[in-house]
Amino acid sequence: MIIVLKRNATKEKIEELKGQLMQQGVAVNTWVGQHETVLGLIGDTTAIDIDYIGAQDIVESVKRVQEPYKKANRKFHPSNTVITLPSGEKIGDGELVLMAGPCSVESKEQIIEVAIRIKKAGAKFLRGGAFKPRTSPYSFQGLHEDGIELLLAAKKETGLPIVTEIMSKEDIHLFKDVDIIQVGARNMQNFELLKELGKLEKPILLKRGLANTIEEFLMSAEYILAGGNEQVILCERGIRTFETYTRNTMDISAVPILKKLSHLPIIVDPSHAAGIPWLVEPLAMAGVATGADGIMIEVHNNPKKALSDGAQSLTPDQFDEIAKRIFKAKKAFDSCKKN
Ligand code: PEP
Ligand code: MN
Repeated sequence: MIIVLKRNATKEKIEELKGQLMQQGVAVNTWVGQHETVLGLIGDTTAIDIDYIGAQDIVESVKRVQEPYKKANRKFHPSNTVITLPSGEKIGDGELVLMAGPCSVESKEQIIEVAIRIKKAGAKFLRGGAFKPRTSPYSFQGLHEDGIELLLAAKKETGLPIVTEIMSKEDIHLFKDVDIIQVGARNMQNFELLKELGKLEKPILLKRGLANTIEEFLMSAEYILAGGNEQVILCERGIRTFETYTRNTMDISAVPILKKLSHLPIIVDPSHAAGIPWLVEPLAMAGVATGADGIMIEVHNNPKKALSDGAQSLTPDQFDEIAKRIFKAKKAFDSCKKN
């Protein structure tokens, strides 16, 4: 962090500020120029409040030169994080994983039928919402605890590990048999929830918020990591822009940027980004080509009758076709990427 001081800063005030900073565990280098004095902080500045420093009357400007996230930062953890589930599945080891399933768990027949079909197509994880964050309070809110039971029944039937969304920290006890807990876009900055998830020893799939920057996204991951849970998977699912053709705008550059900045695996969710079934395949391909570790796709046995997100869901037949092409694309991508 670099702090440029005002010309009228007195020696006493400068010493007072330096003292405060050193108390926070950083070393302070002072450069006295002809016209101004500059302080350079050395060490871990993640806990230093940049706004507080900027508000001091002797401070002209302040700039971070180090990212505010540490545990999510590739600089301090150069090798890729590989998440290994107790059942052996891996995320981030170079193989592309497909996660698929309905937006909402609706019935035993539905979830088991979808699970069998997506497994056949090569998916390694079954997704399905039991707690649904809906814009309208009058829309289907999910089957809650019963939905998790149905996912577990589908897991028993197929062996597929399950991914499902948590909305409140009060529900954590219901997720003890869930393999991967999803934090949805709307809860990306539910910091109290993130702190609680940081105490678990379970992978967390953290979706990017609707209007959050890459840095904010990584700071949310940092909350979980800082609590001691190192199993965080990032998910780019599209952000809000002025474009109305698609439900969201897939920020495809976020994938290589996140790979550069962080060691955490990243999944791309083209279903929520597009909102339109025919766009799912090209966006999934873009995910593969930009280095995603996995793709999450909504699949419903009868999209027209789905209780949520039917408009963007693929049928099992469509998923079967697309999955084949996605795996082919991954092979082609691996054969031409530079190492
Ligand atoms: C979902 O996965 O069904 C979901 C609600 O996703 P998002 O949080 O990305 O909108
Ligand atoms: Mn959905």
